[in-house]
Amino acid sequence: MASTIHYDKIILGGGAAGCMAALAAAKAGMTVCIVEQKEMILKKLLLTGNGRCNITNTHLTKEAYNPEGNDYAMGIIEKFSPSKLMEWLEHTGLSLKDRDGYIYPYSNQAASVRDHLVSLLANQKVAIYLHSKILDGKKNAKGKYELHITTGEGEYCLIAPHLVLATGLLSHPKTGSDGSVFPLLEKLSLPLKKVLPALTSVECEEEYVKNLSGVRTEGCIKYGTVQMYESMGEIQFTEYGLSGIPMFQISRYVVQDVEAKAQLKKQTNGDLRILVDLWPKVSLEEGVAFLQQKKKTMEEGFMSNYHAEQFFDGIVPKKVTNTILGLCRLKKSTPVESLQDKDFEGFVRQLKNLSFTVSGYRGYDFCQVCQGGVPTDALVWGTMECKDHPGLYVVGELVDVDGICGGYNLQWAFASGMIAGSKKVQEG
Ligand SMILES: Cc1cc2nc3c(=O)[nH]c(=O)nc-3n(C[C@H](O)[C@H](O)[C@H](O)COP(=O)(O)OP(=O)(O)OC[C@H]3O[C@@H](n4cnc5c(N)ncnc54)[C@H](O)[C@@H]3O)c2cc1C
Repeated sequence: MASTIHYDKIILGGGAAGCMAALAAAKAGMTVCIVEQKEMILKKLLLTGNGRCNITNTHLTKEAYNPEGNDYAMGIIEKFSPSKLMEWLEHTGLSLKDRDGYIYPYSNQAASVRDHLVSLLANQKVAIYLHSKILDGKKNAKGKYELHITTGEGEYCLIAPHLVLATGLLSHPKTGSDGSVFPLLEKLSLPLKKVLPALTSVECEEEYVKNLSGVRTEGCIKYGTVQMYESMGEIQFTEYGLSGIPMFQISRYVVQDVEAKAQLKKQTNGDLRILVDLWPKVSLEEGVAFLQQKKKTMEEGFMSNYHAEQFFDGIVPKKVTNTILGLCRLKKSTPVESLQDKDFEGFVRQLKNLSFTVSGYRGYDFCQVCQGGVPTDALVWGTMECKDHPGLYVVGELVDVDGICGGYNLQWAFASGMIAGSKKVQEG
């Protein structure tokens, strides 16, 4: 026999969005519980920012969010902006550090953020049901939401006028965002836009990918079939392809194109191409002039037995030099005195236009966030409440809003959670 417990708000999912919703509700004097399926809340938060947790970003414009949902996201973020989030965190006792607009906990430890939120929840006496499995969920005849769960300690029927869905989508499913909420969404007749990875690495075909594996270097990634997207930063070459922040930033478009092609049953080979500029701050002419000058300077000094491999090395990492020389068909052993302007031009041109053919992308286990989810046009402007279901809220990554790297996704999770959580029950 299940125990029946009444709350003002039930929060399904104890990630960043759900915890913020619970804290906002408790602060507003509401009775609230978090229903979490894992053994702990905020599991994913511990992984964020390479364990340092990039909480938010003071340079925030709507371009940081995907085009489909960015107006809606900005409407919410204006109400709980990066500065408001920072003020809230500092007022509740978490010290922060600002690195060129990227905000981290002062300790540089994601665990500090998690521990802080956990102690605030305990302080506000928020009930937390861990190891929860949903047995059933529905809106009852009185218009209240009922969640039947089992936790290993017993079965519960939780009833509330407000239900906040904060389960995330499918990124890093081991942290709990595993799609187990999807049947409930269907039962509640909530629309769900196709879910795909975003902020992920891309797999490429070329043999030279393997030769470059392990290299981390500054560069610019360019990609686009209809519109051209560019992103600068530290590119990471892996044994399967391209990774690092610049690749993450535009991966959502690569993923969409790979999927579109798969739907059309076309091969991805050949026409989805990424161009990498590994000397992005220097033009072709400037690069050639630099190499001409380098040769001239060396001619004045001691340079016998000096070869192309050594000459080009030091401009970019050795593995890149060797790959580019191979692609230019320039022998590593070519004596420097034989290098001609056309060799310099060939080298710089290749370095600035290294081409990769997309063969796939890294999936849910590897992506930082997902694209897709509950479309923002199913939600009331500025409230996170479902248009067709008063009292039902959707927040965080579960909504079709995904941001670029840099603290924008946690900002969205915290802001949307805060807005949904603080909405009073009698207003609903
Ligand atoms: C490796 C990595 C690094 C990242 N780094 C950053 C960063 O530095 N800065 C940044 O802004 N963003 C970062 N992100 C993205 C950020 O972590 C997410 O955007 C954010 O955690 C989403 O919060 P959420 O609460 O919506 O969902 P989640 O954090 O996914 O939380 C969802 C919660 O719901 C629970 N749940 C799911 N289904 C059920 C169910 N059926 N029943 C009960 N509970 C359920 C899950 O167990 C989980 O606890 C990173 C992500 C990853 C994976």
